[in-house]
Amino acid sequence: MKRFILVLLLPLLGNSQTSDQPIIDMHLHDYTEASYYVAPAPDGVVSPKDYKTYKEELLRALQENNIEKAVVSTIGGKNTLDKEGVFIPGYYTNSPPTDTTAFKALINSGKLKVFGEIGAVYDGYTLSDPEFEPYLKICERYNIPVAVHTGGGPPGITYRCCPNFRIKLGDPYTLEDVLAKHPKLRVYIMHAGEVFYENTLRMLLQYPQLYTDLGVILWVDEQPKDYAEQFIRKAKKYGILDRVMFGSDQMVWPHAIKKSIDQLNSYDFLTESDKRKIFYENAVQFLQLKE
Ligand SMILES: [Zn+2]
Repeated sequence: MKRFILVLLLPLLGNSQTSDQPIIDMHLHDYTEASYYVAPAPDGVVSPKDYKTYKEELLRALQENNIEKAVVSTIGGKNTLDKEGVFIPGYYTNSPPTDTTAFKALINSGKLKVFGEIGAVYDGYTLSDPEFEPYLKICERYNIPVAVHTGGGPPGITYRCCPNFRIKLGDPYTLEDVLAKHPKLRVYIMHAGEVFYENTLRMLLQYPQLYTDLGVILWVDEQPKDYAEQFIRKAKKYGILDRVMFGSDQMVWPHAIKKSIDQLNSYDFLTESDKRKIFYENAVQFLQLKE
């Protein structure tokens, strides 16, 4: 009898906690045993103690939050894929790759389905720099989407890994030459431009093929969360919400997934149908998941 009551209660519990509707996360990171690191997130939550625990927590977070697909990028495309086929393999890099043959081989083997995240800003590049050109040409020919970091980066990053990092290189306007040259290239702006979110709005209005994700700005800190809210409000007002896609930018902190979902769900200026578009439908369109 007890079990029977629990079975009856389960759907109610399910609805009050997480949505049973599928979600596509357009912005996820993964690591190898060697590149994984333990550090506190800006919100103070410390990453899982080791790589194995991290992977378990990450897979659990995907399952509990009904993530049907997730674009995941590991440095140089060294992704470990899940058996369920949730992960869509990306290729993380801060600099232009240096071997077009190897790049094409990754595409042909199915190990590269999205070129990105491209964190060009961290190495002093923009996507419009000529070194990226051969790779963009390949992506256009093979119909591979390109995902570009926009906005700033973590505090003090210029003095740690990345002396050539400049915020101004994260302006979405730096993508304009690429879009002009490659009208068929499928590009999405990551982080919705962050501090340059108004320029992202302008670019979305100018280039009807362009999409954006909300990675990191839904959870990491008060300032980007403020940008996210203003960006989404204006995207709705300007009628371009159908090219805004959900992303968590989970790095070494799996809790970021649920936190981002809760943040988007908290916006009462969005209808349920707006939210479904952002969480799922827009990504289905962009990724061409249905014929
Ligand atoms: Zn990024």
